[in-house]
Amino acid sequence: MVDRMGETGGGDAFGTGIAQTLLLNDSVATIDATGIGFTAWLHEHRTDLDLGRFGHLFLPRRVFGDFMRDRFARTARRLAACGVVVHVVKGEARSVLPTAGHGFRVAVSGIAEPLTADLIVLAPGCLDTAAPPGVAAHPGYYTHGRACGLPDSDVDMARLLAGRPVGCRRVVVLGSAAAASEVIAVVAASPAVAQVLDEVMVVSTTGRLPDGQPTGPDAPFTCRSLVRLRRDGAGELTSARLVGALRADVERSRTQEYAIVDVERAVAAEFTASFRLLTPAQKRRFVDVDYADYQRLMRHTSPPYASAAARLAASGRLRLVRARVAGIDPAPSGELAVRLSDGARLTAAAVFDCRGFADVGQTINPLVRDMVAGGLARPNRSGRGLVVDEHLQAAPGLFVMGPLLAGTSQGDDHIWSLKNVARIHVLAARVAARLSDLLTRDTVGIGERR
Ligand SMILES: Cc1cc2nc3c(=O)[nH]c(=O)nc-3n(C[C@H](O)[C@H](O)[C@H](O)COP(=O)(O)OP(=O)(O)OC[C@H]3O[C@@H](n4cnc5c(N)ncnc54)[C@H](O)[C@@H]3O)c2cc1C
Repeated sequence: MVDRMGETGGGDAFGTGIAQTLLLNDSVATIDATGIGFTAWLHEHRTDLDLGRFGHLFLPRRVFGDFMRDRFARTARRLAACGVVVHVVKGEARSVLPTAGHGFRVAVSGIAEPLTADLIVLAPGCLDTAAPPGVAAHPGYYTHGRACGLPDSDVDMARLLAGRPVGCRRVVVLGSAAAASEVIAVVAASPAVAQVLDEVMVVSTTGRLPDGQPTGPDAPFTCRSLVRLRRDGAGELTSARLVGALRADVERSRTQEYAIVDVERAVAAEFTASFRLLTPAQKRRFVDVDYADYQRLMRHTSPPYASAAARLAASGRLRLVRARVAGIDPAPSGELAVRLSDGARLTAAAVFDCRGFADVGQTINPLVRDMVAGGLARPNRSGRGLVVDEHLQAAPGLFVMGPLLAGTSQGDDHIWSLKNVARIHVLAARVAARLSDLLTRDTVGIGERR
């Protein structure tokens, strides 16, 4: 296993040393929905947590990372008992070269000789994006990782803000999904920042932050529009009509004072039932295009993060702006200037860039760039992932797993996003079965090549 940091429990989200205060975006029950074993593991470790009922909790991500690291270590021990050695190689995979006939050579930073492989599982997580030109080294430019991944990052932010005159101590957050919610929670929770902060301005195309606190009436919500669409069956059921019905139901739920977390289960179940009835072409249309509306409508965060934003709003220091960002530039005042598509400019001591991850064509991940440039893999129609066959292979022997499968729509696989542990768990089992199949079927051939 090759990983930049030698991680065995997950990368950016769950890496060793991640701050205890950073939370999972899903409850324990949601993460365990496909049986990865998180709940059982928590019960086993209840002396640490001293809690018996975990399902509804949103736990620190470090706990999930510990679970995954433990799972990896146990698996490695089981394999060792069968004579299979598991090596963890710390380094960045830079390129993959198919070897004559079969197999690959993988160049890894810091290792002189390329590794040889019969089969590869490519699972680099979400693809890193380059900072906008001219701001990467600016002290006020923060990625989600810089804002939340380093201890004491809030002390640096406080120093930056204190250097500005009172009334100009503004931070701007770009985007309003999971990463933005987390940045706002970190800012809101810091006593050092609280002393010097004038305003947090959140700029996003929705102009709203995700709900996290249940707020609605106790009565269950009924998805009238989605139910009617499926029952009446008038006209062709299209992706656009399905998303239209979803939007109508979510908007009606808001007028009835429900939050998305109150209605999420009911809405998702109705949506899934109707999605199955779409034609393959319409399913593909959803995976390529309309998924973005679905994600915006269903967006949620953890209750503590939602409360942090609510506390900031109650103190009059949170402003939501609905706009599209056109660029970020250094400003003459030493601050950063955020250009909006309507021509407006916002200046801020710090800008937190939480606009999401790169498409395959824009990523700075050297391995993915090399594979695409060399023709070993190619971006799928959506641009968010790679073209794969029914076994999830980008090329014979090269399997893809995790977020790089976004945009796959074929057979029974309709994957609009795969930043989801429960779904990865199911697909990983499928890939593992195929790997085992290939290795056992081809034992002689592979042995000869070694
Ligand atoms: C703030 C946050 C909260 C989240 N909360 C949840 C949640 O509650 N529930 C949920 O289901 N999901 C959640 N996720 C999403 C979850 O983290 C991902 O779905 C999951 O980690 C993807 O697993 P992966 O193994 O594909 O990628 P990762 O866990 O990202 O691992 C990929 C690894 O590959 C390494 N890597 C990349 N390129 C190379 C290279 N060229 N060479 C060597 N190594 C490389 C990376 O450094 C990383 O360590 C969250 C994500 C974030 C950021």
